[in-house]
Amino acid sequence: MIEISQFFIGLVLLAFAWLVADFLFESLGGRLSRWLNHRQSRECHLCGKTYAEKPRVKLSHCPDCDGLNPRKNHRRLG
Ligand SMILES: [Zn+2]
Repeated sequence: MIEISQFFIGLVLLAFAWLVADFLFESLGGRLSRWLNHRQSRECHLCGKTYAEKPRVKLSHCPDCDGLNPRKNHRRLG
């Protein structure tokens, strides 16, 4: 026989676990999509324009100013 209090505690724990799982999943998904977006977009170091680029491309040309942008985000000097 299951006691009512135990049942409620289980229910609360389950709801809490669900909330935590949902929160984790959402934050993880957001991070993943942001990371993917970041990987597929590149910011021009000359004009600051953000444009889509394949992650494999090492050096890409900016569509606006034709500046060369390397794959890795180097620390900005100054
Ligand atoms: Zn540019």
